Amino acid sequence: MTKRSIRDSVIFGLCAVLSACSGTTAGTGTAYTGVTLWDGTGAPAIQDAALIVDGGRVVAVVPASDVPPVAETVALDGMYVIPGLVEAHAHVSGAWAPDDVTSPEDRVRGDLLLYAQYGVTTVNSLGDDETVLAVRDAASPTDPHARVLAAGAVIAGSDPAAVRADAVRNADLGVDWLKLRVDDNLGASTKMPWDAVAAVMEVGRARDIPVATHLFYLEDAKRLLELGSGMLAHSVRDTDVDQELIDSLLERDVCYVPTLVREVSTFVYAERPDWFDDPFFLEHADMDEVERVSEAGFMERTANSRSAAAYRVGLGQAQRNLKVLQDAGVRIAMGTDAGPAARFPGFFEHEELSLMAEAGLTPEQILLSATSVAAGCLELDDVGTLEPGKWADFVVLSEDPLRDIQASRTIEQVYVAGQRVE
Ligand SMILES: [Zn+2]
Repeated sequence: MTKRSIRDSVIFGLCAVLSACSGTTAGTGTAYTGVTLWDGTGAPAIQDAALIVDGGRVVAVVPASDVPPVAETVALDGMYVIPGLVEAHAHVSGAWAPDDVTSPEDRVRGDLLLYAQYGVTTVNSLGDDETVLAVRDAASPTDPHARVLAAGAVIAGSDPAAVRADAVRNADLGVDWLKLRVDDNLGASTKMPWDAVAAVMEVGRARDIPVATHLFYLEDAKRLLELGSGMLAHSVRDTDVDQELIDSLLERDVCYVPTLVREVSTFVYAERPDWFDDPFFLEHADMDEVERVSEAGFMERTANSRSAAAYRVGLGQAQRNLKVLQDAGVRIAMGTDAGPAARFPGFFEHEELSLMAEAGLTPEQILLSATSVAAGCLELDDVGTLEPGKWADFVVLSEDPLRDIQASRTIEQVYVAGQRVE
């Protein structure tokens, strides 16, 4: 896992503001002025603020009347600034890059650019191939696309020795997470047996790699926590969560990732989704995929799918459970399971935020979940808030997302490490 001390950067930040330390020069960096800034820590938004960025990192947030000498000023009068969104469960594959991008690495970068264009500046890929790891390792932290963590291939076999070998192989590749799947797909397949699950957990413990787990049922969620799961990567969808699950999540301080929009993706294409006419969707939409899921046969199969009908019920259950877990103080990390077919990366994160609001979470709870809480769940110390020393990953909005989470879609600009995303 990426765990870096930010102390040096904080000291650097203070020096730059106070111009009082050696080794810093007054008049460098950029000031983004005139904004209402919500820094992701849970502190109230600051009106008429300026965000000072230097070397790709946040130096300070100051009153707009108190901007230190900088090399450049970007006037963003009347705009709202929030940290870049952190996505705790997606799948990066390169499938969404433009057709003319041919190299597998560049296709993965194309996916990461798409995320960033939608304000999602960090993506945890919980199931992918080695190309994603190669791109992660080759990336500079200041590249103007989303940062990526990767889990390698999802582990789902039934033989303990074989899954142990798979887990060791992923660990040797340097994955950030191990990902395993315990699900019978609504009774259509056999669940991963518990001795195989335990074998993967053992590798995770031995190699100090957290294990993110796919699940559907409450009882499986509890068992996965007992066995050492480091993240519940989906909602409990079969029944109401209970105090036993809540206590287990709180005691172990494990994060819960709702992936509500994943349920929507199973049934929504029975009809034409409203968002197919939404300019915010259309700006970066993959029109080939829109066409595929709009085709009459696809829509008919979706309309007649029994699993789609069951997942529609599961969505309501998941939303009720989300509200209970949020109120109980469980750490909720925004995640969508975007990336596979029909799950549009970047746009789906904003749908997720809306579904969280529909579940009864406040805009502030949702934004925390999608920034600092998700970053904490991913053990990232340098993104998720706009505090001094953190990477200057931020989104400029024209409307206030703390009033209405729909405003997350009013994106004017996105920055990764202080670099504007095109
Ligand atoms: Zn997934």
